[in-house]
Amino acid sequence: MIRPSVITKVISGPVHRYGVMNVNGKRSVGILGGGFAGLCTVSSLRRRLGGTIEITLFDKNNFLLYTPVLHEMATGTVNARHVVVPLRKVINAGEIHVRCEEVTAVDLEARVLETTSGRFSFDNLILAQGSESNFYSIPGLKENSLSLKTIGDGSTIRNRIIEHLEKGALEKNQDRRRALLTINVVGGGCTGVELIAEIAQFINIILEKDYPEIARPEVRITMIETAGKILTSFPAYLSQVAMERLKALGVELLFNTRLDWVDENTIGLNNDIRLPKGILIWTGGIRALDLNTKQDIERDSINRIMVDNYLQIPGYPDVYVIGDAAHFVQNSNPLPPTASVAVQEARSVADNIAKQMQKKPLIPFHFHYRGDMASLGFMSGVCEVYGHQFQGFIAWVIWKAFKLALLPRYKNRLQIVADWLITYIFKRDTSRLP
Ligand SMILES: Cc1cc2nc3c(=O)[nH]c(=O)nc-3n(C[C@H](O)[C@H](O)[C@H](O)COP(=O)(O)OP(=O)(O)OC[C@H]3O[C@@H](n4cnc5c(N)ncnc54)[C@H](O)[C@@H]3O)c2cc1C
Repeated sequence: MIRPSVITKVISGPVHRYGVMNVNGKRSVGILGGGFAGLCTVSSLRRRLGGTIEITLFDKNNFLLYTPVLHEMATGTVNARHVVVPLRKVINAGEIHVRCEEVTAVDLEARVLETTSGRFSFDNLILAQGSESNFYSIPGLKENSLSLKTIGDGSTIRNRIIEHLEKGALEKNQDRRRALLTINVVGGGCTGVELIAEIAQFINIILEKDYPEIARPEVRITMIETAGKILTSFPAYLSQVAMERLKALGVELLFNTRLDWVDENTIGLNNDIRLPKGILIWTGGIRALDLNTKQDIERDSINRIMVDNYLQIPGYPDVYVIGDAAHFVQNSNPLPPTASVAVQEARSVADNIAKQMQKKPLIPFHFHYRGDMASLGFMSGVCEVYGHQFQGFIAWVIWKAFKLALLPRYKNRLQIVADWLITYIFKRDTSRLP
């Protein structure tokens, strides 16, 4: 039961610089999106303002997807149930209103979120709707590829790999067998590299024991990347280490190569090379999720909403945008779409809402870069933390520690650590799930 003081049917009105108090005297904040950004805003607001603020969180799903281990879920190291955190388990539903429904429109002027069950007004809006895969209008790509953004994507990749191995083990026709045993990953950023390393290691480990009908050289695992190297945001040395590691795992690296088109059976590259499509996984970019705003606002080429130094939409000082949905410029470049950025932005917004309430000047947001890290299969990785570079097992341990810190629930942390231990002892499972 939603308390009427918190969510009120909307009447449009003037924009108030410091918001309007609702009838019980508490400031109301409506948050769209319970991902890293939205959830961290909830906890930061509670920490700073306690019960003096009424928070309502809208999300079409009732869980947070813990993306940093999604590639491990896609290759059977981590159980699917352990990568989702139920929102109501990390939020005290007695204090925060959780509405599991899709927001269909936003009125920035009136600070209203619209859903199929009504229109809800707040003193502050925080938009954190996240992102989806960006297929850049490449012909045939969306219909013929898999991506890694949702829990469903992770399961599909895993099932598809196992299905292709089962069929490949039986196939006698050489062309069909080659196609079944081809895996192409497009995009050599963190997601693509972490995924392809896991896939290659998974194949290397299970093939000999579980699929003796297939020789390892028959499985072609290719990374396609437009740049001349992978992990372009990393220091050159770590990028080189990652490249060597992928080669050692049996990954073929195609650099300076662009995917131009895809059909059911073939992928076409810019240098006139054609490859069997096999399993094609696209990790080549993201775009902010569409959000129907009543007012025209400026967005960048990947649909992110332009925000000012305070993460507010220019002209709408009570509306903030954070996480993957926001285009925030620092040192002349937009910040990358990462959970670390989302979490720091969330804390800044919570601070500034507290300042708005106290009628104090707001503090501009500044992202503090702490490092970059990528796993390169089970028990290997590269990372740069506070200027120090690590590789191999030690980098993997640091990676795990940092990433687990982003996970807001101890139970999930323990479950994931247990999954890693079980994988270490018993190896990965190859059952295809319905
Ligand atoms: C495979 C993978 C691995 C990654 N690994 C890392 C990593 O190791 N480290 C790192 O820092 N970052 C990583 N990232 C990036 C990180 O996941 C994102 O930057 C982060 O999730 C952004 O947080 P967000 O809150 O903006 O969006 P999200 O976490 O995507 O949350 C958005 C939420 O909004 C909800 N929503 C969207 N539209 C609506 C609507 N209309 N109505 C209601 N609800 C809605 C969605 O259901 C979702 O819960 C990874 C991403 C992927 C895909």
